[in-house]
Amino acid sequence: MIKTITGTTQNLGVMGWPIAHSLSPAMQNAAIAAASVDAVYTAFAVEPQALALAVAGLRTLHFRGWNVTIPHKQAIMDALDEIDEDAAAIGAVNTVVNDGGRLKGYNTDVVGFLGGLRDAGFDPAEKNVVLLGAGGAARAALWGLMKSHAMRVTVGARHPEKAEALIDDFAARASMLGTKLAAMHWETEAFRGAFSHADLVVNVTPLGMTPHTDDKPPVDWREAKPDAFAYDIIYTPEETRFLHEAAALGHRTLNGEDMLVQQGAAAFELWFGRKADASVMKQTLRAQLSGAELVHPVLA
Ligand code: NAP
Repeated sequence: MIKTITGTTQNLGVMGWPIAHSLSPAMQNAAIAAASVDAVYTAFAVEPQALALAVAGLRTLHFRGWNVTIPHKQAIMDALDEIDEDAAAIGAVNTVVNDGGRLKGYNTDVVGFLGGLRDAGFDPAEKNVVLLGAGGAARAALWGLMKSHAMRVTVGARHPEKAEALIDDFAARASMLGTKLAAMHWETEAFRGAFSHADLVVNVTPLGMTPHTDDKPPVDWREAKPDAFAYDIIYTPEETRFLHEAAALGHRTLNGEDMLVQQGAAAFELWFGRKADASVMKQTLRAQLSGAELVHPVLA
C-alpha cells in the first residue's frame, strides 16, 4: 500500500554534509508508519556555508522539525531561538522542533546514551567511569554520566589537552552534581590505574569502526575489574574489537545500536508528543546495517 502524502502531511528530515549514508530516514519513517502519523522524513545535504539559509528555508516551509548531524551540530545553535538544557550543557544540537515558527534545539544523544545503559541494567550512579575519547560524543556521554551522578569520570585521549579542555568545560557543573573529573593521556600509568578501578569503560572514539575493525583504544581488559562493563557507542560492526576482547574475558558489553535508536525515538517524541515504537526502529536499523532488502516504510 502506498502512503498518501497530502497537503496536511508534516515534513521532517535530517541535515548533514555528507548525508547519503544516514540511517535516520529509514528509522524515522518506520516509526512514522508504525504510529500511523501523517508525516514524512527525508535527508538534506546541507553544505556548511549554506546552513543559515537551509534553517531559514525549513522554518519558512513550516517543517515540523529535523535532526542535525555532522558538521552542523554546533554551528546550528546560533540560528535557533531557544536551546534546551541538555543541548546547552553539551554545546551541540541534534534535534530541532519548530513550534509555530519558533525553533528550539535539543540534544537527544544524552537520552540515547543513558537509555542504552539503563536497558542493559547498568546504573552509573556512584560509579567509577572511564571515557576513551574527548570529541563530540564524549561531551554527551560526560553530561549524561554527570546527570546520573557518576562518582568519578576519567577522560583518556591521545591528545590529553583535548581531554583537559573537555573537563574544564564541565568542571563547575560537575562539582555541583558531585562528580569528580580527571583528564589524562591514555597511555600513562595514571590512566592504567584509573582503568583498573573502572566500573564502566566507554569507547567514544571511532577506533574499531568499519572498515578499520582491527583498531581499538589502547586498553587491556586483563587489567580491568572482573565486573567492569564495556560500552562502545560504535554500531558497525555489531561487536568491535574493544567489545570482543571484553566479552572474551566475561565482561558485560553493549554496542551503540540502542543509543542510535533511542536518540531517534526521543526526537520522534519531541516532534509528535507520543512514544515511538523503538522495536520497529531497531528492526529497521538492523535491516539497514545488514544490507538486507528493506521494504521502504513509506511504501509498506
Ligand atoms: P569526534 O567529535 O570526531 O571525536 C572523536 C574522538 O576520537 C576524539 O577524541 C578523537 O581524538 C578520537 N580519535 C579519532 N580518531 C582517533 C585515532 N585514530 N586514534 C585515537 N583517537 C582518535 O567524533 P564523535 O562525534 O565524538 O564520534 C565518535 C564515535 O562515536 C564515532 O564512531 C561515531 O560514529 C560514534 N557515535 C555513535 C552514536 C550513536 O548513536 N551510537 C552517536 C554519536 C557518535 P582527536 O581529537 O585527537 O582526533
